[in-house]
Amino acid sequence: PAPPGARGRFAPSPTGPLHLGNARTALLAWLAARSRGAALVLRVEDLDGPRVRPGLEARLLEELRWLGLDWDEGPDRGGPRAPYRQSERLGRYRDALDQLRASGALYPCFCSRAEIAAASQAPHGPSDEGPRYPGTCRALSPAEVAARSARRAPAWRLRVAPGAIAFDDGVHGRRAFDVAAETGDFVVARADGVPAYQLAVVVDDAAMGIEEVVRGDDLLPSTARQLLVYRALGLAPPRFAHVPLVLGEDGARLAKRHGALSLGELRERGADPRAVVGLLASLSGLAPAGAQVSPAELVPGFALGRLGTAPVVLRASALDALAP
Ligand code: GLU
Repeated sequence: PAPPGARGRFAPSPTGPLHLGNARTALLAWLAARSRGAALVLRVEDLDGPRVRPGLEARLLEELRWLGLDWDEGPDRGGPRAPYRQSERLGRYRDALDQLRASGALYPCFCSRAEIAAASQAPHGPSDEGPRYPGTCRALSPAEVAARSARRAPAWRLRVAPGAIAFDDGVHGRRAFDVAAETGDFVVARADGVPAYQLAVVVDDAAMGIEEVVRGDDLLPSTARQLLVYRALGLAPPRFAHVPLVLGEDGARLAKRHGALSLGELRERGADPRAVVGLLASLSGLAPAGAQVSPAELVPGFALGRLGTAPVVLRASALDALAP
């Protein structure tokens, strides 16, 4: 059982319609929290300005409720419970950045994307985030920083010491990433002043008292970076459990281009939410194929340890059965 006040969270980015892949991540995060008696926080990660489409948040909340997923906390706006929004928490990220700058953990970086690509020997980091940062601005003199600051605003990078960062994942077991070798010093505040995901997620998970983070395993390498941010801020990290992604039949990760898989469309075509939850649960071996269940009915038998580590494939035929 979870300690009193324990919290889990689901932290979607409102950049596209909810599809079955992120609905399944939401279901598993919800089940992980509910099955250990923890509260659930919903946090909308809407810092990524131009990619965040208006109206998507409202749809996202409606679709989560339609599936039977609820949450417990959020600012009181006098209506149905609102989620936290990162765009309303900028002061906290600014404070954390001030603390990191004051401790010498950060340095300003004036490199453009093209300059980094040209200077880096490693073509790509561990994910699709671009090349490893070769450390070009790591040791600029105060005079060089002043001269460059006059021409362009810097991004801020966290200094990463060499060596592997290891952690015990609730699904994948012991994992280790060499952030210095794979990613290099990484951005915690962008040149336009927007805090990077790696910073905001740590500040929020710590401030919200999250003791277990359940999310997609595409974020495994990010966890190593986040552990470095926890350490630099002097904060205790949560436990992590990274659930395998859902792939389409073509073997590619479910995405917007698998348009027919959006929850909104299934709903419009008359799908029963209990059948949708049944399908999401069956993908993880939590319910038999064709089951019709509510999230609450899945709580008693749930354990993160029952999820495999291999990606799960969603067949078109399973979808046809949902919405003929
Ligand atoms: N907002 C991120 C996403 O939707 C997830 C972040 C997290 O769970 O840490 O991909």
